[in-house]
Amino acid sequence: MNIEIDRNSGFCFGVVKAIEIAEKELKKSNSLYCLGDIVHNDAEVKRLKKKGLKTISHNEFKTLKNTKVLLRAHGEPPETYEIAKQNNIELIDASCPIVLNLQKKIDKAYHDFSSAEGQIVIFGKEGHAEVIGLLGHTGNRGIVISEEKDLDKIDFSKPINIFSQTTKSRNSYHNIIEKIKERMLKEVGNDEINFIINDSTCRAVSNRDVFLKDFAKIHDIIIFVSGRKSSNGKVLYEVCKNQNDRSYFVSETEELRKEWFKESDSVGICGATSTPTWLMKKVKNAIENL
Ligand code: SF4
Repeated sequence: MNIEIDRNSGFCFGVVKAIEIAEKELKKSNSLYCLGDIVHNDAEVKRLKKKGLKTISHNEFKTLKNTKVLLRAHGEPPETYEIAKQNNIELIDASCPIVLNLQKKIDKAYHDFSSAEGQIVIFGKEGHAEVIGLLGHTGNRGIVISEEKDLDKIDFSKPINIFSQTTKSRNSYHNIIEKIKERMLKEVGNDEINFIINDSTCRAVSNRDVFLKDFAKIHDIIIFVSGRKSSNGKVLYEVCKNQNDRSYFVSETEELRKEWFKESDSVGICGATSTPTWLMKKVKNAIENL
């Protein structure tokens, strides 16, 4: 049996940077709070927990004073920075620079657009940490859409400025934009309303689906390794499944099933931007031992 780990899978640079910052801090103090899971991967969260990283919720964060808290790659709304200031919390900001840049753009668009009664639309997953952060930069007045039925929230007679959550697939973003144009035509009679489209999907994700398509095609069976909470994991797993019907999603080695494999199979192991390489290697060893 030939087993290959995809060279393009694994942590994106935003997550690598956040983990490096956490580990550097933990070396100094052996204990650090992190606001929310540092990465959507339970195995990696457990590894860092052993080193002293303690995940806290936003409610717990509000009760803390005079301490240090790490902000993960997803970014935070302005409110988090205000609470930290009031409670004398030192923030170790590991927000991904791409997300920070997007927050700045949304902030500017919101201020420019509000005088024109325009709407800031965010294509993303309601309640996702990154989306909460982005929404915070619209004074929580932005409109979050994730599927066609959510388009009813938009007033098509008013200007629209749309952004995407960084981890959304470029394809699904393109499709929803086309649906918006159709609704404009249908409801206003033309598509000349001021409709600003911002290409804000992250290339660390959008390029991966291109590489993954080929990777999934050249192997008989694909083992996709990811945490179940990872949005990007769900998107990339679908890419594999569409190319290779024998694609399986696992979070831990215990989920592997012997009956999935044949002796002559060529096996491809890949994962999300939040999947650690050490976990993919562990999966490879586990398959060899099945
Ligand atoms: S997926 Fe892109 S935007 Fe998100 S953390 Fe990784 S590098 Fe940053």
